[in-house]
Amino acid sequence: MQLKLLSHHILTPDVRSYSFVVDSDSPGAAFPFEAGQFVMLKQLEAEKKYARAFSFACAPTAHEITFLMKHNPDGHISGYLAQSEPGTKIDVSKPMGRFILNPADTDRVYIATGTGIAPIISFIESNSSVPATILFGVRTNSDLFWQEKLPANSLITLTQPTEEWSGCVGRVTAYVPDLLSKHPNAAWYICGNPEMVMEVRAQLLSAGAAPLNIHFEIY
Ligand SMILES: Cc1cc2nc3c(=O)[nH]c(=O)nc-3n(C[C@H](O)[C@H](O)[C@H](O)COP(=O)(O)OP(=O)(O)OC[C@H]3O[C@@H](n4cnc5c(N)ncnc54)[C@H](O)[C@@H]3O)c2cc1C
Repeated sequence: MQLKLLSHHILTPDVRSYSFVVDSDSPGAAFPFEAGQFVMLKQLEAEKKYARAFSFACAPTAHEITFLMKHNPDGHISGYLAQSEPGTKIDVSKPMGRFILNPADTDRVYIATGTGIAPIISFIESNSSVPATILFGVRTNSDLFWQEKLPANSLITLTQPTEEWSGCVGRVTAYVPDLLSKHPNAAWYICGNPEMVMEVRAQLLSAGAAPLNIHFEIY
């Protein structure tokens, strides 16, 4: 299966979004996936094939398939796509992963840092009727992106804000105790770097959250 690049947007100095459609020449061109899943994007370079994981950053019903990528100029996939023109085709695996919503949830808290917001966007754009609260962390004001896609009640926290920032300040972990007291029965969905995910998970477990209610994806 191949995806065809439609467009590419620079969201911050470090983060880009890429939108694709399934290449109509690919066999069985439909591409069903569940919100929260990921694919391996594959690129042949000097006769070696590189495959890297990227989560869907769109609802399964979206007309275009969007990924959010931390931009690495030397990256075999992110660097390659940054230099690619619309119309470029790229090999893609089948969708995979168990970081998906549990339909039995009655309340949800989503916690993400950086491009870890990708599967959370996939969740919220899937229009579940279960109430959800989002905690999103990045470093500085200029690292912020896609605020307009987040519900108005989302908590956005910066570790290194400028003076004009009036939102939350500090690491996402600073806001977990308050979320725990406001959402005692929530299912927790966490995505981002390994340190953040493990730290939040440990906070939740030590506060008595049920392991089955803690879902995470580590980048
Ligand atoms: C299930 C899953 C889903 C994921 N989804 C996403 C997603 O939606 N968006 C996203 O941005 N990432 C995501 N990741 C992480 C992503 O797969 C890796 O960061 C991958 O290495 C990126 O590929 P690349 O083409 O940018 O760079 P690579 O080809 O992997 O790296 C090329 C060079 O850059 C170096 N490098 C790579 N990453 C870094 C770094 N962070 N800091 C410094 N040097 C680095 C490497 O050492 C190497 O020398 C996901 C990971 C998993 C496991």
